[in-house]
Amino acid sequence: MQCVLATSNEHKREEIAAIFARLGITKVVFGSLRDHPEIPAPVEDGTTFAANARIKALQVSAVTGGWALADDSGLVVDALGGRPGIHSARYGGEGSTDAEKMALLLSELKQAPDGGRTARFVCHMVLTHGDAVYAESSGACEGVIADAPRGDHGFGYDPIVYLPEQGCTVAELTAEGKNAVSHRAQAAAGLRAAFTEVCARGEG
Ligand code: IMP
Repeated sequence: MQCVLATSNEHKREEIAAIFARLGITKVVFGSLRDHPEIPAPVEDGTTFAANARIKALQVSAVTGGWALADDSGLVVDALGGRPGIHSARYGGEGSTDAEKMALLLSELKQAPDGGRTARFVCHMVLTHGDAVYAESSGACEGVIADAPRGDHGFGYDPIVYLPEQGCTVAELTAEGKNAVSHRAQAAAGLRAAFTEVCARGEG
């Protein structure tokens, strides 16, 4: 089965491919937008993770006529009223670095009236074929915003999300450790049956 991931982020493609391999989905070849320069960038104007994931996946599968998978994800911080949420990638302005985003979030949190630091990574994944949504699933990974970034693994906000159960930030986990607990892994687990079924039918 060939499935195009609606991302040009190679880190995300590798992470998603590793997560599905861990779930026993080994017959799917995951491509990415890097292999499809003809597909225009989607307009992510949905107001939820689910809506944006559908927009991204359908944009790809409608052009290729085949299978596409998109995830829309972000960090939801309770004391900031759920921000940056669906705007996580663009928080702090288009082109801001991960370090700038984390510094902004930590400084906003200092000024937040409610001192609570609870937060979660959220992910919604959608599998589409042609013009239709075939299956979708969500996952969340609960944590607490750390006082300062820690750890070198992962990407994005990983260094400031502390996982009480693991006793470290997400960026202090190995790739394998992150894939055992992450929001993306949980969303992927919900699509395992759909991938297994499509592979068994020999489609794609
Ligand atoms: P998306 O590519 O539109 O889903 O944007 C997701 C954004 O949320 C990323 O650019 C990151 O800033 C953040 N994010 C999503 N998942 C993770 C993760 O696993 N670790 C760290 N940051 C993440």
